[in-house]
Amino acid sequence: MSKELVATWKCQNGHVMGQVMRNGRGIRQLLLYRQAVDLEAWKPEEVEVMAVIEGLVIDVECSICKTARTWAPGEEAIRRLMEAYGLIEGEIGG
Ligand SMILES: [Zn+2]
Repeated sequence: MSKELVATWKCQNGHVMGQVMRNGRGIRQLLLYRQAVDLEAWKPEEVEVMAVIEGLVIDVECSICKTARTWAPGEEAIRRLMEAYGLIEGEIGG
């Protein structure tokens, strides 16, 4: 069961709240960290995943700055599509 890291998932202020993975079935998942991390001080071994999310989650709060962000599983896919059309000719996963 291989998992591919697609992107980090950050709040508006750039704190890493989780990471986006694509599982073996091609489903995008959000691995939500218990504590958001400041990328500059990131020690990956200290990151604890609180939940693995496949569906929509409204207003996930950044534990550092308290801004909220909504996870929509299609968001990364849409961005990837736009990048593929606009910037790079690449393979669209899935
Ligand atoms: Zn934040």
